[in-house]
Amino acid sequence: MSKQFANAGLILNEPLLWEKGGKGKSAFSMPKQDVERVYIDDNITGEGPNFPELSEIDIARHYTRLSTWNFGVDTGMYPLGSCTMKYNPKINEKLAALSGWSANPFVAPELNQGALEIMFRLADFLKEITGMDAASLQPAAGAHGELAGMLICYAYFKSKNSVRKKIIIPDTAHGTNPASAALCGFKPVAVKSGENGILSPETIAAVMDEDTAGIMITNPNTLGLFEENIKEIAEIVHAKGGLVYCDGANMNAIMGISAPGEIGIDVIHLNLHKTFSTPHGGGGPGSGPVCVNKKLEPFLPTPRIIKQDNKYVVSEEFPQSIGRLHTFFGNFGVILKAYCYIMSMGDKYLKKASELAVLNANYIRACLKDELELPYDRLCMHECVFSDKKLEQYNVSTLDLAKRLIEYGYHPPTIYFPLIVKGAIMIEPTETESKEEIDGLIEAIKNIIKEAKENPQLLLDSPTISKVRRLDETGAARKPQLTGL
Ligand SMILES: *Cc1c(COP(=O)(O)O)cnc(C)c1O
Repeated sequence: MSKQFANAGLILNEPLLWEKGGKGKSAFSMPKQDVERVYIDDNITGEGPNFPELSEIDIARHYTRLSTWNFGVDTGMYPLGSCTMKYNPKINEKLAALSGWSANPFVAPELNQGALEIMFRLADFLKEITGMDAASLQPAAGAHGELAGMLICYAYFKSKNSVRKKIIIPDTAHGTNPASAALCGFKPVAVKSGENGILSPETIAAVMDEDTAGIMITNPNTLGLFEENIKEIAEIVHAKGGLVYCDGANMNAIMGISAPGEIGIDVIHLNLHKTFSTPHGGGGPGSGPVCVNKKLEPFLPTPRIIKQDNKYVVSEEFPQSIGRLHTFFGNFGVILKAYCYIMSMGDKYLKKASELAVLNANYIRACLKDELELPYDRLCMHECVFSDKKLEQYNVSTLDLAKRLIEYGYHPPTIYFPLIVKGAIMIEPTETESKEEIDGLIEAIKNIIKEAKENPQLLLDSPTISKVRRLDETGAARKPQLTGL
């Protein structure tokens, strides 16, 4: 391919001509001059910076082309398990971008009542959705919410002049859980889920003692299964004075159906940038509110927004608080979108969203269970997890299947996670995909398995149509280049 054509949209493996400048090209649309010209002596301004000179069409094409090299929810289905990459209605982006929201965060609370009210009301909504008593919107991500929750647990024991050293974390928990616990000085005690993929009360009773702060449980867990014994497990933990932390990043499966506060949870975080109208995994800002019951309320981060005489005030008057975890109030744009999303859905449609998310995942589970091995063959929640067992006979791997899927126009599912399923393929369709789209994904996977039988090389060579082909993942890990090109 000649260099001249190397910029065309889908031409692969050719270096992009990044240097497009040309002397004398220009691209600006200035408004008509309506002030008097002022000439500044060149001696004052000196030589201008050496900006590239480009025409408008060069710029428009360059950025439009770059945008086509990315896959996004607006391009196609993105069934990335555990990430809830659903379609987020554009109206929420528009509302969050209204110019009235750009108040300086230093502005006095009396002049910022609108923003404070939104945060206060969102916290109320989240309390209702989770069945908890109080919430803080400060944490900026799921893992940050976990850290907040663990710090709260630590502060709770400290207030009782007690230090507990261990925390129980099942093998079906999200990988961030043990890390968050360890950051707060707790030693994770790993426990195994049962053959049915969920925890048994006996397993927890065997390890729970008075040196254990409690349990961190992901529900629905990373196998996409609901922890059906959670109430009994919470009773066992509470009986020994422990606390129950729930990783609620998967709330998309249970909104309006199961309230964690009613099944014994003391503290839970949510991922607004999954369930509530901000995409996860886009590298943008997130929000991981932490919700607690009465017992843990005194320890929530400060400042807190409270309502006094019909006004919203910002209060630091919580002496047992773990303190501040984020500048100002958290990521306000994400908070705002969550508020708009909940307002536009109402309780009825939030519940419906969860019902459809679960229905869609079970549809995929049922349609593919003859083609792919399903290690836990039972009703799932928002995602279903297959293993690579049936692929091995064709000498292809989970990775090969995922890469081939790109050629069919789908973002690959999450792969090799959770770790307890060999060669895991974790599919989360979400509620926003139509039956036609989901059927398309199922067809694509069935076709790929057929290809694996007949012409496995097709899988091994994939992807061929994307800008970047297979990456040297080992090289990237061993010799990371962290400073750009
Ligand atoms: C996504 C996720 C997290 C972490 O959320 P981040 O915002 O990426 O830090 C934690 N737990 C579970 C179950 C998740 O799915």
